[in-house]
Amino acid sequence: MSSSETEILIVGGGAAGTMLTLELARRGVAARTVDRLPGPHSTSRAITVHARMAEILERIDGALIARFLERGIHNKGYVLHFVDGQGRRSEVRPGIDFTTIDSRYPYILIHRQDETERFIREYTLEHYGRQTEWGTTCVAVEDDGDGVVATLVRASGDEERVRCRYLVACDGINSRVRQMIGLEQEGHDYKGIVLQNLDAYLHGFPDADDYVHYCAGTDHFIMIVKLPGGFFRLLLSDRGEAADPRVPTGTAFMNLVNRHFDGVRLGDFVWHSKWESWVRLARTYRKGNVFLAGDSAHVHSTTGGQGMNCCMQDAYNLGWKLALVIQGKAKPALLDTYERERRPIAEQVIWAASSLHEIFMGHGKDIAERAQRMNEPGFVEAVVGRCSGVSYTYRDSAQAPEELAPLDGPAIGDRAPDADLEDGRTLFDLTRHTGFTLIAMPGRNGSADSAALFGEVRDRFGDLVVCHAIDASPSLERAYGRSDEARLYLLRPDGYIGFRCTARESDRLMDYLADTLVPI
Ligand SMILES: Cc1cc2nc3c(=O)[nH]c(=O)nc-3n(C[C@H](O)[C@H](O)[C@H](O)COP(=O)(O)OP(=O)(O)OC[C@H]3O[C@@H](n4cnc5c(N)ncnc54)[C@H](O)[C@@H]3O)c2cc1C
Repeated sequence: MSSSETEILIVGGGAAGTMLTLELARRGVAARTVDRLPGPHSTSRAITVHARMAEILERIDGALIARFLERGIHNKGYVLHFVDGQGRRSEVRPGIDFTTIDSRYPYILIHRQDETERFIREYTLEHYGRQTEWGTTCVAVEDDGDGVVATLVRASGDEERVRCRYLVACDGINSRVRQMIGLEQEGHDYKGIVLQNLDAYLHGFPDADDYVHYCAGTDHFIMIVKLPGGFFRLLLSDRGEAADPRVPTGTAFMNLVNRHFDGVRLGDFVWHSKWESWVRLARTYRKGNVFLAGDSAHVHSTTGGQGMNCCMQDAYNLGWKLALVIQGKAKPALLDTYERERRPIAEQVIWAASSLHEIFMGHGKDIAERAQRMNEPGFVEAVVGRCSGVSYTYRDSAQAPEELAPLDGPAIGDRAPDADLEDGRTLFDLTRHTGFTLIAMPGRNGSADSAALFGEVRDRFGDLVVCHAIDASPSLERAYGRSDEARLYLLRPDGYIGFRCTARESDRLMDYLADTLVPI
């Protein structure tokens, strides 16, 4: 058996592992990613890249998101098609509207997961020379307090013991690492519901380029959406009748499609799968030096299409924190914020997915009755905010000091929205690096002299905090509100607001930096 060392071992090269590999590579951290499969998945699985994910890809590199936007289909939202017991059809258009999202990406980008992962992998290889080691299974994990020793077995049968400072379990729904270290999950199953996915060509399907179509009756649900490549994703759920092995797959799907549309014909199949849906959430995301990210930590209904997005954002949240702690630039307590921030997000993701699941897949009860839930004030807005990821906030875990002057605009812990600046750049342009960004914004009473503060920040934290003084602009005011006094916004490396205050409270901002980072 050979032995080796690395700073971070990522077990699993799926959605979460791929994102974490890039985040650590961008920061120059020695890390390895292993996956038991002989090569990358080649099936579509997750088909949505939501607005928050698109913003993240844009902040990493404009060229990266451009590749996604070119390939993906820009959907405005969901059209809901209902059929009652007498076969009468009705439609709500748009039933769930994503064009209202406060983001540069006010749509659902339909993009296949195999291609999403491939684009990020190719980017990571091209820019940082890192790639996943396929055909390599993690079979044992021992945490000795100072680090973790993992045993890897390659397809050839060769074994290797790898010592790492931290191990991140991105090994999916049945996470072996989670089981090996004994982290428990809570959750429930959707009894009696069988889901089936069919990627196939459809002929004569109306309105294919603009909307995801959710079609439901009392006893069935079928989602239909066109994918890049020209074929469609059909997701079917009923009380098990369609899963009867005596019913041919095409017949099962078309029996339901025909209840909502006329003249649609099924063409060639690309991929078919059957599965059962569960809800699972790990009680804790960390044990010692092992972290869970992605499906290893949380699983929920695919309704709303948030799974992959949430998994990748776990990795995005954890990546910069691990890098700064490993490099001695941040205090180890920063790592405790990972679970504090991401577990509540998983709870909200589960809420949005479960709410939609109950409406569309809660078979048995009259569909019109179930759909009433969508008329509750604020319900659709909450679903759109959560599915798109733009409303997720770490406010509750951010512990903002109470005595700060009240301010308009996004608060500590909120996602920092983008804005057009007077000089032609965007706010995101200023954040396209791997550190923190300190932004001095003018108030109605003018700008503060930030030169002394910026000098002090640079002296204490070097290039880990990049400072900018910007002018007022209408777009900035829309996104960040207005204030009489000049303001300071400190954006974290993941684009969330780490701290904000008036310019005269800059000593409080320095306290935040000193509590979080290690001076140079
Ligand atoms: C049919 C389907 C449709 C979906 N639709 C959507 C959607 O529209 N939108 C959305 O956001 N999400 C969707 N999802 C969910 C999404 O696919 C998952 O949430 C996402 O893939 C989870 O990413 P992950 O990295 O956590 O796990 P995975 O992508 O499952 O990756 C885990 C990896 O770990 C590897 N591994 C496991 N054990 C070991 C080991 N011991 N050693 C080494 N490697 C190991 C596996 O081979 C695998 O490659 C869908 C899922 C399915 C199945």
